[in-house]
Amino acid sequence: MGAAVKLFARHALLPQGWRRDVLLAWDAHGDLTSVTDNAVPPDGVELAEYVLPGMVNLHSHSFQRALGGRTEFAADGPGSHDSFWTWRDLMYRFARNITPDQIEAIAAQLFVECLRHGYTSVCEFHYVQRQPNGAWYDRPAETAERVIAAAQWAGIGVTMLPVLYRYSGFNDSPLKPEQQRFRTDADDVLRVIEALAPLRDGQTEVGVAPHSLRAASMAQVNQVVAALPAGRPIHLHIAEQQAEVDQCLAATGMRPVRYLYNQVTVDARWCLVHATHLDASEIAHIAASGAVAGLCPTTEANLGDGLFPLAAFLAAGGRFGIGSDSHVSQSPVEELRWLEYGQRLRQQRRNIAVSAEQRQVGDFLWQGALQGGAQAAGRPVGALAPGRRADVLVLDGAHPRLWGLALHEVLGSLVFSGNDNLVRDVMVGGRWVVRNAQHVAQQAIAARFKQTMAELREFQ
Ligand code: ZN
Repeated sequence: MGAAVKLFARHALLPQGWRRDVLLAWDAHGDLTSVTDNAVPPDGVELAEYVLPGMVNLHSHSFQRALGGRTEFAADGPGSHDSFWTWRDLMYRFARNITPDQIEAIAAQLFVECLRHGYTSVCEFHYVQRQPNGAWYDRPAETAERVIAAAQWAGIGVTMLPVLYRYSGFNDSPLKPEQQRFRTDADDVLRVIEALAPLRDGQTEVGVAPHSLRAASMAQVNQVVAALPAGRPIHLHIAEQQAEVDQCLAATGMRPVRYLYNQVTVDARWCLVHATHLDASEIAHIAASGAVAGLCPTTEANLGDGLFPLAAFLAAGGRFGIGSDSHVSQSPVEELRWLEYGQRLRQQRRNIAVSAEQRQVGDFLWQGALQGGAQAAGRPVGALAPGRRADVLVLDGAHPRLWGLALHEVLGSLVFSGNDNLVRDVMVGGRWVVRNAQHVAQQAIAARFKQTMAELREFQ
């Protein structure tokens, strides 16, 4: 890990847009102390061509990384009835016996991959909390601590979100046997949050995640939210599947977003993950509340969820961020690309995600996902500005995809042109964790992951 405290960027993406000759400085805590454009490079300071703020991955179930490629078969052959729900059965089977060691090994590998592709923060929506037999571990936050340990090993910033998970469906349906490892009451979740408190620092925050309207009652959600220390983020799966919307309507007489806003005060602490199925009034509610819509386009495509109404949401002033969720992709480029492409395919138009002030799609998406992601993470990230974390990506300025471009075309090329990974170096909290596209601990982390995958070869 380098000890540098300054970096000079020929071009850097600041909150106000691209600027030239930017000198970045940070302190021993990893916080940026000054960001100065039109600067002169001081002697001995490292030079970079293109510098971006690292992206926030606002939705992760890290253990699902180990399922990659293993659910892509049609159980019934052509015309198969496979769906989100049949995938979920496979995922439950996988989660049933996974150990804390395995959870940690998988998460570390995932975080290395995320860092190498430009994510410098992750929000972990963490629900495998009990032992396979349904008892608690001796340490109530055992598995959450393992994921945080993996984040520390890989060097990614983390917002740990212990999950409130009490029911298998609306009307307080009891959990199924395969869900017993996830079972938490409000008191359990608050105990885990308290146990994690000593781990909070510049790299680590702790919030909470009521799993969904299916899995938690509104009384429990309100209890947890009321007891949560001020300023901590609250994440919830809101309307991922049409069947979920239908069940919510049947149980409550309201669609999910309307029901949530009817029962709880939703504000800017909230991140509504998979706000896929919205009507016009629900779009207006989310936008007006300042909550972030957590969008996971590659997973939502992989699971057949549906398409988020992005254009209407942006027109209402809504905030969004991206997450890799089940980790079929570890690349923010792929999430942003598919966020825009889904809209183009549906509307048969081009260049959807823009604003009156920002007509470059790549710039709009990257900056929007930074702002929403930082808000959802509850950490000072997402911008190259004093007081924010020194989370920095250096692009490969020697790559042909960046040759001959005007500055306002760089992110267009990054997001929409090709599949080589343009991220060359990555700094998190003032420490280089990726150099020349190699993660500083990738060999040790990969060796442990390989062993873990061998252990998990047969889970069905
Ligand atoms: Zn999720």
